[in-house]
Amino acid sequence: MNKIAMNTPLVEMDGDEMTRILWKMIKEELLLPFVDLKTEYYDLGLEHRNETNDQVTVDSAEATKKYGVAVKCATITPNGARMSEYHLKEMWKSPNGTIRSILDGTVFRAPIVVKGIEPCVRNWEKPITIARHAYGDVYKNVEMKIEGAGKAELVFTGKDGSITRETIHDFKDAGIIQGVHNTKASITSFARACFQYAVSTKQDLWFGTKDTISKKYDHTFKDIFQEVYEKEYKEKFEELGLEYFYSLIDDIVARIMKAKGGFIWACKNYDGDVMSDMVSSAFGSLAMMTSVLVSPDGIYEYEAAHGTVQRHYYKYLKGEETSTNPVATIFAWTGALRKRGELDTIPALEVFADKLEKATLATIENGVMTKDLAQIATRKDVTVLNSQDFIAAIRKQLEAIL
Ligand code: NAP
Ligand code: MG
Repeated sequence: MNKIAMNTPLVEMDGDEMTRILWKMIKEELLLPFVDLKTEYYDLGLEHRNETNDQVTVDSAEATKKYGVAVKCATITPNGARMSEYHLKEMWKSPNGTIRSILDGTVFRAPIVVKGIEPCVRNWEKPITIARHAYGDVYKNVEMKIEGAGKAELVFTGKDGSITRETIHDFKDAGIIQGVHNTKASITSFARACFQYAVSTKQDLWFGTKDTISKKYDHTFKDIFQEVYEKEYKEKFEELGLEYFYSLIDDIVARIMKAKGGFIWACKNYDGDVMSDMVSSAFGSLAMMTSVLVSPDGIYEYEAAHGTVQRHYYKYLKGEETSTNPVATIFAWTGALRKRGELDTIPALEVFADKLEKATLATIENGVMTKDLAQIATRKDVTVLNSQDFIAAIRKQLEAIL
């Protein structure tokens, strides 16, 4: 069989622990036999980040800007314990944070839906993708405990010295206050990333805020989204038959519970934090969530939503058998390959990505899966395999489909 050729390299960001082991298995079993894989390799494993003073993370993000598509393995975000475990020179920052700030992106998280692992919400037939704004609001807040009577005010001092002042509350007794902010630039780039992703995945976009109560703060989100939609995306949406639907957050939440899925739900920072945990657990498991960072100018970085699965790695190091689920990491690769195929007009690459996903899902639907899925599967006659054997079973299925 001829291997599928590629033109532009994918930016490949290798990572840590158990997911680094899975990474190698996936490449060797499921990719290299079928695709003449072209990647520009960056080792984001913690040892190499430490050796390069984390320069490798910055370089990999810059390469992503250059080529447009990256695929990333889960990486350790160092803490105190990792400092001594890896003899680190410094407590390096979260690679995802570094990459996100260079690419200025929004993170989209979607569950991988498979027959036999049913969502708790019966009418959810298709995935619901959460797009979470990742800047500001309560995550960059200033808070104060008020100990007794007094006046709390909101004061803005302009560069020209002008002062705007509003009373927050006249306290008769003890209480609390909080100051939050966001910026027009950040909200605008969040809006663009959402519309761009909706166009790219051909899904409707839903967005909700509390604009009826928050007439300036939340209303600004609503207005910016509306403006970006009308100026930059309305035509494209109409052409593709897509809908941009804005409503009050309460109404959105109520409708989500009755919906069939198959759309993107854009959330303000806090809403996205809370709702993504609800959506992912209702759909099944973190090991079945994909994650993609999309920049407003259409740069894509694909990864799994879960971490490096440290607990399994320590077992693996002791020579014990592990049944770590590779599905989200496989889907990170297929997402990246499909996007590369789309950008470079290589239909064979897109078809291959579709078929590898199909083979993965078919394997699970046939009752062959890793331990985490067996625990939540509806059918009881399942075969639980270790990661290596599960990947081999997917390969068999893939060869049959190809
Ligand atoms: P984790 O790696 O997501 O794992 C937490 C637990 O979830 C695991 O112990 C396992 O449960 C289950 N799990 C997650 N993925 C699984 C999979 N593919 N297959 C089967 N079970 C899976 O989170 P963590 O242990 O809190 O973090 C470990 C390291 O990952 C940390 O150093 C953290 O910094 C890093 N991290 C990286 C990213 C990223 O790069 N995007 C994201 C999150 C965390 P059981 O043990 O019960 O089987
Ligand atoms: Mg959370």
